[in-house]
Amino acid sequence: MPRETAASIRVGVGYDSHRFAQGRPLKLGGVVIPSDTGLAGHSDADAICHAITDAVLGAAGLGDIGEMFPDTDAANRDRDSIEMLAAAVKRLSSAGFTVNQVDVAVVAEAPKIGPHRAKIRERLALALGIDSASVSVKGKSNEGMGWIGRKEGIACIAVATLTKTS
Ligand code: MG
Repeated sequence: MPRETAASIRVGVGYDSHRFAQGRPLKLGGVVIPSDTGLAGHSDADAICHAITDAVLGAAGLGDIGEMFPDTDAANRDRDSIEMLAAAVKRLSSAGFTVNQVDVAVVAEAPKIGPHRAKIRERLALALGIDSASVSVKGKSNEGMGWIGRKEGIACIAVATLTKTS
């Protein structure tokens, strides 16, 4: 009998968006990306990490990033979102889950994700405790439409699968 039965596989989805802001670093997937504009937010505004954190917590049925790291808590100001993701992974492994794989779509007119993809995958894989081959990151433009098209901000959608191991 295979250890991973269909019943033990869990799927979670996460979404996040942040507004571009001057005078802030642009950090995505734990990697600082050279840019003349960063992202506004209470933490370091790393939308890739936030979407993945919600996806893994959602797959485990363990709430969401806002519950775990409230923006009313001063301890979370400018907090490193890779560290928040690692803390979420620790929480779900204590609850008997392991992460299988993660897939992320980043929707923005800029920056282009391609040149930074390998580094982002490595950084995320380290936080997730999996191989970078199991972390997929894709960049998409919004074809100039709407708030993303006007370069007001960035959106990320993540899907994660977990296995319930105990
Ligand atoms: Mg966020």
